[in-house]
Amino acid sequence: MKKLGKISVLVLFLLSIFVGSFTVYSISKVQSYGTLINYLGIVRGATQRLVKLELQHHHNDELIAYLDDIIYDLNNNDGKYQLVKITDAEYKSQFASLKLLWHRVKNDIYAIRLNPAASPALLQDSEFHFEVANNTVFAADNYTTAKSHQLTLLSALMLAGIIIMWIALFMVYLRKLYSLESSNKTLYDITTKDPLTGAYNFETFKKKAQKILNSSDKNYALTYVDFADFKYINDVFGYKYGDDILINYAAIISSELRPEELLGRVSADNFVILRYYNEKNDIMLRQQQVDIKITEFMHDMHGGQAVSVQCGICYLNDLEEDLQIEGILDRANYARKTVKTGLHRKYAIYDESIRKQLRYEKSIENRMLKALENEEFLVYYQPKVDLKTGLATQAEALVRWQTDDNLIIPPDKFIPVFEKKYLISSLDQYVLKKVCAFIRRRLDADLPVNTISVNVSRLQFYNSDFVKTYEDIKNKFRIPDNLLEIEITESIAFDNVFFLEKIVTELKSKGFLISIDDFGTGFSSLSLLKNIPIDVLKIDQSFFKESVHKEKDNIVIKGIIDLVNKLGIRTVAEGIETAEQVDFLKAVNCNMIQGYFFYRPLPEDNFEQILNKEYDIKETAVQSEAEFFITEDWTLQNN
Ligand code: C2E
Ligand code: CA
Ligand code: CA
Repeated sequence: MKKLGKISVLVLFLLSIFVGSFTVYSISKVQSYGTLINYLGIVRGATQRLVKLELQHHHNDELIAYLDDIIYDLNNNDGKYQLVKITDAEYKSQFASLKLLWHRVKNDIYAIRLNPAASPALLQDSEFHFEVANNTVFAADNYTTAKSHQLTLLSALMLAGIIIMWIALFMVYLRKLYSLESSNKTLYDITTKDPLTGAYNFETFKKKAQKILNSSDKNYALTYVDFADFKYINDVFGYKYGDDILINYAAIISSELRPEELLGRVSADNFVILRYYNEKNDIMLRQQQVDIKITEFMHDMHGGQAVSVQCGICYLNDLEEDLQIEGILDRANYARKTVKTGLHRKYAIYDESIRKQLRYEKSIENRMLKALENEEFLVYYQPKVDLKTGLATQAEALVRWQTDDNLIIPPDKFIPVFEKKYLISSLDQYVLKKVCAFIRRRLDADLPVNTISVNVSRLQFYNSDFVKTYEDIKNKFRIPDNLLEIEITESIAFDNVFFLEKIVTELKSKGFLISIDDFGTGFSSLSLLKNIPIDVLKIDQSFFKESVHKEKDNIVIKGIIDLVNKLGIRTVAEGIETAEQVDFLKAVNCNMIQGYFFYRPLPEDNFEQILNKEYDIKETAVQSEAEFFITEDWTLQNN
């Protein structure tokens, strides 16, 4: 194709040279026809003048020689006047007569020089000469005019053809150039922009933002945006609507950005925006305006159903260190994470307290690998009280970090950091092994033991070898079936029901029990769980908090427990702190209670003491009705 293009340009170029030369040739030909006719005119006029002079006895031999030269040139086309040859028959015959007459006129002139009486012959011949010369001029004129027309037409046609060909070639190249340019642009877009929203992809955003920050002396701020519970939108209203929101949001922001400002999409529902400001408050105002617009859009589309936008803002002037874009993004993102979920738009600005939190997380990050190696993590056990038997033989294993300076750090402080650094699976497996070791030790000592549950992080759940790893640990410690329970948080369950079903089925086939943890904090519905063979549903403590809707809450709890019981799933109420709550749960047939009212999470030794005690009194507990445990004694004894 490329070669063909080159050849056609070459051919066209040669053709152009040819046409150009032909045109030059035609013009010169037309000019020489003009010259020829001029000379024929001279022959006619000069001969008449010569005859007139001779008749007045003025001899002019120079004029005769001049006319001889012209006649010679007209005849032979190689004289000094370089006259063209005309091949036209009419012209040729006229010119032949003219030549003859010229000789006769010349003879007549010589005759009257000798004998002036011969003048009538000269007069007659000059008359003939004039007439024939006239005819010759006409013949030449007719012929050359036709020839000139032909040449001009031919040149014009050829020139037009060449011009058209050049234009066509030019168009082809222009189109090629255009398509090259547009495919270049497409390529540029594919590699730099997010296909859904048209915002810069994260990598490009970072590069461009860094470049702007390096070269501009304006005051910049970076905003990190996240839609809270966007999954909810996708799951409830469908991905199409989710996409629509993202597309619209990017469009709203793009339309208000100024030159030297940028929008990027980090991932699903996370955007980053680099803007400059004169007044610090401008950044917040501009962000609030775009958020109002997108909320309006959501309201219009789904009548009131909107999720909130959470933003972290980092003003570069507020930073103590000179950070690169990655660090700035981190800061804005940290600020964003401090925004609590809620239905209102929320904004957080990176400041001293967030900096502290960041430093704290960094210190955890720096120590966590060593801490795992040094086995600084303790497993605490929080017993679950069975409301039928009154026994607290089951428990949930909860991890604690005992640092070398003897501080106990609660899991909420370090688990998010472990998750972020992908170390959570090591920690979860560490806890599982400790629990297995505990069970094994009791089994080996012929001591009774009941089911103990462990937590798995949502991230671990997606490891392809997750089930295998857990099975291997269980087998290594030779733990009988149904003594280990895996707590899966509700949000994972909601992420992907099919996936959940698969994993749960696999885990169950390996002898694990399964519970859904923190039920009620997400958006899952009970119907989602009916196909999944779970054993236990743990109702989140938020259900039991004091609230103005207490009565309604209780109706919901009763409904959940009734329904779940019918599905053969046991229920555990979490975070139970008061006797009223216990009474109520007992009345609605909740199976187990886990909460400070009975027990806080306890070190292994303490839990073991309780276990031993529970098994010792087992017989009595079963005989006498299980009423005794809701007493002041129990609370006092165990808290
Ligand atoms: P969770 O799984 O919901 O665990 C229950 C949490 O509620 C525990 O907090 C427990 O101490 C607390 N709790 C129990 N009863 C009451 C009560 O009556 N009142 C109040 N206010 N709180 C009560 P903890 O031990 O701080 O654990 C917090 C979270 O950390 C756990 O929530 C769990 O999500 C996570 N976690 C703990 N251990 C592990 C672990 O080994 N692996 C993973 N991935 N996560 C863990
Ligand atoms: Ca749990
Ligand atoms: Ca829980």
